[in-house]
Amino acid sequence: MDQEEDEEEDVLSMKNRGGCIYAKHAFAGPDPDTFIYTNFMKSHCCYDAIPTSSKLVIFDTTLQVKKAFFALVANGVRAAPLWDSKLQCFVGMLTITDFINILHRYYKSPLVQIYELEEHKIETWREIYLQYSINRLISITPDSSLFEAIYSLLKNKIHRLPVIDPASGNVLHILTHKRILKFLHIFGSMIPKPRFLQKQINEVAIGTFKQIATVQESASVYDALTIFVERRVSALPVVNEQGKVVALYSRFDVINLAAQKNYNNLNMTMQEAIASRACCVEGVLKCYPYETLETIIDRIAKAEVIHMQYTCMTVISLLNVG
Ligand code: ADP
Repeated sequence: MDQEEDEEEDVLSMKNRGGCIYAKHAFAGPDPDTFIYTNFMKSHCCYDAIPTSSKLVIFDTTLQVKKAFFALVANGVRAAPLWDSKLQCFVGMLTITDFINILHRYYKSPLVQIYELEEHKIETWREIYLQYSINRLISITPDSSLFEAIYSLLKNKIHRLPVIDPASGNVLHILTHKRILKFLHIFGSMIPKPRFLQKQINEVAIGTFKQIATVQESASVYDALTIFVERRVSALPVVNEQGKVVALYSRFDVINLAAQKNYNNLNMTMQEAIASRACCVEGVLKCYPYETLETIIDRIAKAEVIHMQYTCMTVISLLNVG
């Protein structure tokens, strides 16, 4: 269920072109450890973190919204840049968040088709939606530093940052938190290990320890979508009547509704939605408050799961690059 589509390539083949050499003596401030990762990110460019090959799907804004989501599923990708053929440029992104927003906004009942999903073109949806959200494409150039990329991802609160070649105007890759964390994980072994990696996650106060958003297994998929929209979380622990976590329902699972064409019945329970997942996932990947930051980073970097996405973001924020 949770395969990261853009991480398919063997991470060891990530290109390290050596153009940007780690600035060993660029420390500033009283605690040099504070800036180890900042300097590392500043001394590598986005091009360094791009895989040698990966799949990229682009949608014309005149494509029907429904077809676009089916195409995401069919191609096993999570997001696509949007091309406006009238303006002859990329104008935005289409992601699973957009699918969730459309379903949540227009769903009425299992008996009524979601007209806006069935009939709207991407451009029609954007005209309505863009009044409330980012209305331009946020992108980066290949020679910008990874520091700038991380800064942009955090500042704009987005998970997808297209790397656009200024010469051709082509999208080369879509950078994600996870890709950057993997890059750090592989090439970070060449730099001194900051001491804060040995701290426990509760000590460094990353992650959320209170007011965890959860969903009951008897609640509807629509209820889960409401929580995704209101709380902006990436995954929800599904709990039974005793409050025990029985599964995890992630934003990515919502795209299954398009894959299985059952987005017209959002009244189905979480229990049903989980049972209908194409591949059953045994257990939930966990971390404990007493585990060190290093252990958690290792686990996230090795795991092929998307529900760790916000954790990647939290970890990246902590690496003093924000
Ligand atoms: P995901 O659903 O994959 O987690 P995001 O959280 O990044 O994606 O998407 C949040 C919203 O921001 C969506 O409406 C998406 O279309 C938009 N968005 C994502 N990335 C960009 C970008 N680089 N430029 C402009 N808008 C973006």
